[in-house]
Amino acid sequence: MGAAMKRLWLFLSFLIAMPAWALEVVATTASMGMLARSVGGPQVRVTELAPPDRDVHMLQARPSMMRALRDAQLVVAVGAELEIGWLPAAINGAANGAILPGRPGYFEAAAQVPLLDAGLAADRAQGDVHPAGNPHVNLDPARMATIAKALAERLAQFDAANAAGYRERAQGFAAAVETKLPAWKQKTAGSGGAVLYHKDGAYLLHALGLTLHGTLEPVPGVAPTASHLEALAGKLKSKKGLIVHTPYQPPAGAEKLASLAGWKVAVLPIDPPAGADANGYFALIDRWVEALAK
Ligand SMILES: [Zn+2]
Repeated sequence: MGAAMKRLWLFLSFLIAMPAWALEVVATTASMGMLARSVGGPQVRVTELAPPDRDVHMLQARPSMMRALRDAQLVVAVGAELEIGWLPAAINGAANGAILPGRPGYFEAAAQVPLLDAGLAADRAQGDVHPAGNPHVNLDPARMATIAKALAERLAQFDAANAAGYRERAQGFAAAVETKLPAWKQKTAGSGGAVLYHKDGAYLLHALGLTLHGTLEPVPGVAPTASHLEALAGKLKSKKGLIVHTPYQPPAGAEKLASLAGWKVAVLPIDPPAGADANGYFALIDRWVEALAK
């Protein structure tokens, strides 16, 4: 092999060894993964920890999570204690100081926006899993746009060379939300609102200007009781609306309330599919809007 050929070969192997992305990002949920991909573009490689068909409140730290977190430069979490049962343990197990809470490598979506139910007198003794306010910001497209812009700034801290691209993609996401939100509101304008199993869809109802009539859970994280459902049914009489639960929440409470109040039940996910892009997220909002508009 001649010297010139050798140099070319070295150069080519260098290109192959270089990853196409600059940043290893670990997202806790499919919604956070969607946002990281939408803002990060080709500069990030995103791993999602929680499968969207599982209840994020109920997960446990697993070795596979620790392996993913060991190599992460940035963690994108929902926050407000949603992942408290497993993320701190998984981060500790990963032994990666760069992603500890408080470090630049740790980003919480809920910390970027005002939260519903923040400052309520939450009673931990009753089993309330949301003492820091409602963490389920992912179904509010407008809050997600704010979070996208904050995430762009965080990514820019790591990778100043691509800062303009991060900001541009976050702006693009925000512009898409701004275009879609009036149509979503218009479509659901006559809707009577909803009862949710858990307050995981509360932000979307709020964004659409719809009433949350109650939750099947008497307290966030506590399973429905017969007396609670009967009291709720009493409040729903002469009102119209939809009862919504996710695929992983038990359907019995929703069916009981449906028969007591004469309301219909819809089963809707609160996260897009794993690996979704912004269009997958907007399709999820479309599904909720369609169901609520009926
Ligand atoms: Zn919750």
